[in-house]
Amino acid sequence: MKVLEKRLPNKRGYFGKFGGRFVPETLIPLLYELESAYLRIKKDPLFWKEWKSILQEYAGRPTPLYLAQNLSKYLGGHLKVYLKREDLLHTGAHKLNNTLGQVLLGKKMGKTRIIAETGAGQHGVATATACALLNMQCVVYMGAKDTERQALNVFRMQLLGAQVVPVYSGTQTLKDAINEALRDWVTNVKNTFYVIGSVVGPHPYPMMVRDFQSIIGLETKRQILKKERRLPDIILACVGGGSNAMGIFYPFVRESQVKLIGVEAAGLGLNSEHHSATLCRGEPGILHGMFTLLLQDKTGQIKGAHSIAPGLDYPGVGPEHTYFKEIGRAEYVSVTDKEALEAFQILSEIEGIIPALESAHAIAYLIKKAKELPSETIVVINLSGRGDKDVTSVKEYLEKNEKG
Ligand SMILES: *Cc1c(COP(=O)(O)O)cnc(C)c1O
Repeated sequence: MKVLEKRLPNKRGYFGKFGGRFVPETLIPLLYELESAYLRIKKDPLFWKEWKSILQEYAGRPTPLYLAQNLSKYLGGHLKVYLKREDLLHTGAHKLNNTLGQVLLGKKMGKTRIIAETGAGQHGVATATACALLNMQCVVYMGAKDTERQALNVFRMQLLGAQVVPVYSGTQTLKDAINEALRDWVTNVKNTFYVIGSVVGPHPYPMMVRDFQSIIGLETKRQILKKERRLPDIILACVGGGSNAMGIFYPFVRESQVKLIGVEAAGLGLNSEHHSATLCRGEPGILHGMFTLLLQDKTGQIKGAHSIAPGLDYPGVGPEHTYFKEIGRAEYVSVTDKEALEAFQILSEIEGIIPALESAHAIAYLIKKAKELPSETIVVINLSGRGDKDVTSVKEYLEKNEKG
């Protein structure tokens, strides 16, 4: 492993070679304003106190670190497997840690209006929730096709008081929604804050989202030291944009004895055209304001990503993960749709926990590798969300496959 640089990103927003701020000139002043506001508030203990109190009283933190004895036994009895229960956080996933942080930051900056973009709708729901709580106006851009596929999440956002704007340009999916949100931001910068949902985008977003999600790893560290009096050997998390993984990894990054493993979606297989394994198979390029690994074709066009898990279906990845991969601080692997579905069913049956299909990827990897691990290995899996949102698509998939 190469040495880990201190205090990343650097002033220009780079993690090693990756990250940066690749946006049109009109956006630069907005990002400068955001960066300086965040750096100011980062040093303000009152901000963090307020955010933590909301997380505790409203959202249900700290989430349990649960020793999954049935799963440990199922895997051979030689491991101790702990689940970090982000599925028990309000709204059913880790995303709220970040949206509460950013919306509160927006409020402190004097903004009154929040915008976001969403693909599957999960980030939109988490943003709308934070806005309802903190009395902010909320506008969520969503590709028109996605609003049809995710009609229930559109209704959830509307119940929460948000305005959902369908975007009819281009492919009518996430990337078009991002363009529309950026256009809105430039036009309404005075009163508007743009909330990004993962450790992606131009600087300072990857740093900011990492800091907010690090609460997961900080709690995990405290909890495992109390329960086991030592650090875990392995930490596993699924990687879409990379925020739940970065959140649990980051507080352990300087503890080199702790192995960090990110699990990507191999979809129908790494050699098919239908996967989202950006760190395993991507090439460097620029998308959404950052220089990072991306799924692209020979001419550099961004390829469509596929995963059975809607939250993993993204052709890019946070630049800090790309940096961790390059210096060897974390390892990135992948599991297929089929393997994730099996893990989804296994965890449901043996632990009574229906995991999000995203999180099921991390579990599936452990199921594959358990036999190779020495006894007494302590493994922590970030259970990033609950699977209630996925039961309909799993049912359809299983019925289709039974019929052959
Ligand atoms: C959105 C989501 C993910 C993927 O996003 P990351 O930024 O990679 O964490 C993973 N799990 C769940 C439950 C999600 O909702």
